[in-house]
Amino acid sequence: MAIIRRAQYGLPATSPAAYIAKTRGVKVHYLGTPYSSRPHDQCAAYVRQIRASHLANKKENYVDIAYNHVVCEHGAAYEGRGPHHQTGANGNATLNRQDYAVCALLGSSGLTEPTDAMLHGIRDAIEDLRENGGAGDWIGGHRDGHPTDCPGDPLYAWVQAGAPRPKKNTEEDPVMALSDEDVQRVALAVLAYRNKDADEKSKKAGRRIPDVYGYIVGTYQAVTGIASDVKKILALLQKEN
Ligand SMILES: [Zn+2]
Ligand SMILES: [Zn+2]
Repeated sequence: MAIIRRAQYGLPATSPAAYIAKTRGVKVHYLGTPYSSRPHDQCAAYVRQIRASHLANKKENYVDIAYNHVVCEHGAAYEGRGPHHQTGANGNATLNRQDYAVCALLGSSGLTEPTDAMLHGIRDAIEDLRENGGAGDWIGGHRDGHPTDCPGDPLYAWVQAGAPRPKKNTEEDPVMALSDEDVQRVALAVLAYRNKDADEKSKKAGRRIPDVYGYIVGTYQAVTGIASDVKKILALLQKEN
């Protein structure tokens, strides 16, 4: 997914944070405070709110939101300081020059487990910093080299596994996957086809007797055809209403 650039969600187009030519890599963060799941139309406002709270933080003396990118549970990556700007989030000046910082909208309580969409969004953010900001291959967590729980155990486990893009779960696609009911229908249909009388009839009529594999594939196609027809009918009914 494309990065949502600063000007696209109401931030000044360019960050005033210091220029940085390249980094070793990217550190992943979380909020570390209670955070609840929310509809996506509230996410941009939440990122603007993080920026406002960072600018109001007199202790840290931030010139902008501390992170280079911020990623919501729906997979959108909001540009923070952006590529080629030094982060303020990694703990001290040395660590801030070493790596960029990407923050996930995950809490220490409430929403604590990253969604697949969020993991894709973090990858998008990392790839943007590599392609447009000279980030190196290294990926770690805020806790690497700094005493903090950030980015939380679930997200850190993913980081340690090499931050892979999640694989598509085909069970979520009703046209592609068979339900238990479908499997039973295929099995019964195969058994019904596969009897000697039917084979004898086919032989007498000079038809080829398909093997079991052929029966299964044919029946599978018929059953999944039914599933996609049901989808079409539902779509039409929804239009009518
Ligand atoms: Zn952190
Ligand atoms: Zn969102």
